[in-house]
Amino acid sequence: MTYQITGHTRLGCLLGTPVSHSISPMMYNESFRLLGLDFVYLCFDTKNADLSAMVRTLRDMNVFGFNLTMPDKERILEYLDELSPAARMIGAVNTVKNEDGRLIGHNTDGIGYMRSLGDAGYDIHSGAMTLLGAGGAASSIAIQAALDGVPALHIVNRRGRSWENANRLADVINSNTDCRADVTDMADLSEVRRCIQDSTLLTNATSIGMAPNADATPVSDPSCFHRDLLVTDIIYNPSYTRLIREAQEHGCRAQNGMYMLLYQGEAAFHIWTGQDMPTEQIRSKFFS
Ligand code: NDP
Repeated sequence: MTYQITGHTRLGCLLGTPVSHSISPMMYNESFRLLGLDFVYLCFDTKNADLSAMVRTLRDMNVFGFNLTMPDKERILEYLDELSPAARMIGAVNTVKNEDGRLIGHNTDGIGYMRSLGDAGYDIHSGAMTLLGAGGAASSIAIQAALDGVPALHIVNRRGRSWENANRLADVINSNTDCRADVTDMADLSEVRRCIQDSTLLTNATSIGMAPNADATPVSDPSCFHRDLLVTDIIYNPSYTRLIREAQEHGCRAQNGMYMLLYQGEAAFHIWTGQDMPTEQIRSKFFS
């Protein structure tokens, strides 16, 4: 299938900073090419941009939609016309669809993460989950996990910027879902150990261990890892984090964030186009 930009081609894009490392343009443009869709997707760094003016321009240009990455996932909320129910609970948006001039915000990070657990053969009803972090990605994962039926969720964060949000997430989950959520201070090492020992799933959604600080880990004492624990790190750069290595050394199954990245894109693609992304072709071309 040839791929040609025409006078009818519609634009979509990624906003945030940094964005130049993003795999999204390859993933989406190859999908448009494979399906013969007259769309194109680019990245725009918002470091020095006025987000409100940028969104106004994108609306005027009749883009089909756009993605948001750090630090714009929360900042975007005030410029949108409507939020999906999950995005409202999460308090952050990573995907916007332009529906005849109305900008609708969605969040596909949690959807992507939950779908990636299927690849690891994990049954989400099998036990509790310990989630490290309460930032943008963690919020999306926490809400989606609770909506999908994870029975109990231990949210672990330091008493920092996201502490209040960790408690908000637990309140929202306990008030709106059957999942029981609680919050633990990351500095309380014995309580963190207890959470992990009580869980069958451990998820790192902090940025601890992300390049260039690849020798860092969010779990200082991995001796609490047990054989029934699936350890997932949503970091994908590096692809083999210290957390993943130490989990495997303790006999745990472990998975990085590559497939979450793929599946959050797959969900966004469906929101924009109403069509299924050619995921297997994209996986073999860019994710293996
Ligand atoms: P945020 O900045 O929103 O959240 C970062 C989280 O990490 C917060 O909970 C923060 O706590 C915590 N944190 C950061 N540094 C430390 C530290 N030194 N000690 C303790 N806690 C710390 O980022 P995002 O949620 O957007 O991204 C988090 C990670 O997830 C990144 O590595 C990103 O690359 C990855 N990611 C992967 C995706 C995928 O598809 N695989 C998608 C989105 C993100 P506090 O705020 O209290 O400081």
